[in-house]
Amino acid sequence: MPIYEYKCNACGKNFETLVMGSSTPECPSCDSQDLSRLMSACGFISKSSGPSGETQVKSAGSSACGSCSSSNCSSCGVG
Ligand SMILES: [Zn+2]
Repeated sequence: MPIYEYKCNACGKNFETLVMGSSTPECPSCDSQDLSRLMSACGFISKSSGPSGETQVKSAGSSACGSCSSSNCSSCGVG
């Protein structure tokens, strides 16, 4: 079931709601049906996760030590 984000044109409240079939959503604050549909929550979440976070996790976990092949550096004492 898709979740859409709406902005109420009557009172200006932003809210998310499930939209099933041909049902018309209403503002939970003032019960108005004069709404503007905004970007979906899914698109907003995928945008917020940047590549910088993934790079940091990879560099820290794959090869922590530069002088040996160990991943946890328990043998050479660097980590
Ligand atoms: Zn409203």
